[in-house]
Amino acid sequence: MELCNKCGACCRVLTVEQAPQEIQAIASVTKLLGIPSDMIFAAQHWHPLSREEARQRNPFYVERLPADANLYWCDQLGSDGLCMSHQTRPLVCRGYPWYDQPVRDMALADQDCGYALDIVSEYVIRRPEM
Ligand code: SF4
Ligand code: SF4
Repeated sequence: MELCNKCGACCRVLTVEQAPQEIQAIASVTKLLGIPSDMIFAAQHWHPLSREEARQRNPFYVERLPADANLYWCDQLGSDGLCMSHQTRPLVCRGYPWYDQPVRDMALADQDCGYALDIVSEYVIRRPEM
């Protein structure tokens, strides 16, 4: 079952561990060495946001993120809410939200994100059976 309803919320505000300077530095090094890296894409297409700017784009999500989170917007999000670089989007986009890790209680980008069903089934349906 496709859980993503393509609302685009997880692309309106992005958060990654790396600060803008780190993204640029990793992108430069990996590009120089010919190593594929999400940071090369990020350096080209992700742009820093202040907390207030991010809040205006997705208040639901930003309220749930740590105060020191690195926040970005992506210039590849189309006005229709779809990714304009779908075929070449980085791994960090492809893996959202679980990244091949177990389902866990975490801040999803939208209150109607379909992946909330995974959390419900993990914590309400499966866990009592364990
Ligand atoms: S927030 Fe959830 S439902 Fe919306 S686009 Fe992202 S993954 Fe899909
Ligand atoms: S590259 Fe596409 S999937 Fe990734 S953040 Fe940008 S719009 Fe979203």
